[in-house]
Amino acid sequence: MTGSMEGTRDTNTRQRLERCRRALEKNHFEVYLAAHCAEAREITLEKIFPPIGAKSVSWGDSLTLYATGVLDMLKERPGLEVIETFSESLSRETILSRRREALGVDLFLTGTNAVTETGKLVNLDMVGNRVSAITFGPKHVVLYIGRNKIVPNVAAGIERIRKVAAPRNALRHHHLQTPCQETSCCTDCDSPDRICNTWCITEKSYPRGRIKVVLINREEGL
Ligand code: SF4
Repeated sequence: MTGSMEGTRDTNTRQRLERCRRALEKNHFEVYLAAHCAEAREITLEKIFPPIGAKSVSWGDSLTLYATGVLDMLKERPGLEVIETFSESLSRETILSRRREALGVDLFLTGTNAVTETGKLVNLDMVGNRVSAITFGPKHVVLYIGRNKIVPNVAAGIERIRKVAAPRNALRHHHLQTPCQETSCCTDCDSPDRICNTWCITEKSYPRGRIKVVLINREEGL
């Protein structure tokens, strides 16, 4: 690719992120733009975390969140209660109990499966703890979103999740057995381990600013 083509592509990507940002803000989300994961971490620690004054934090599964390193920093904060709901050393019963507890935290961190250029979030959950927390419970929610998650509209988001994100996500969960782990295609299965159970479309943040979005100008997550 020539330098001028790369420049045009970069400009187009930035314009797309800006459009997405404006649409999200119009829908009452608080939005930050980050060039990369390290900047997303700085924004969290310097701009988002201090005014919230969170005493408790938890999170929902998100490769993009993990890539930012935010969790590692927060885990080291003295006086901050961190509710861990994913450790393999915990029993299933304890994990579920902690996930219920996590719905009452001051700050919940996670990602989203898709965000539209019209400023809406589209998510699909297996257990529901992530979409529950995005919807209601934690006082503040922060979502980390790579540019690859931006889609034109809700229909395109649903299609991307079904065809791309969900089969890839199933591959991450080795203890589960779904047909898409073999074929990489969604067959709308009836497996007991099906990871696609609850759709959630968030049209606006309520109350205004409760959901904060960090748009990252990198390909991150599935
Ligand atoms: S519905 Fe079943 S086959 Fe389709 S992505 Fe989800 S788990 Fe895989």
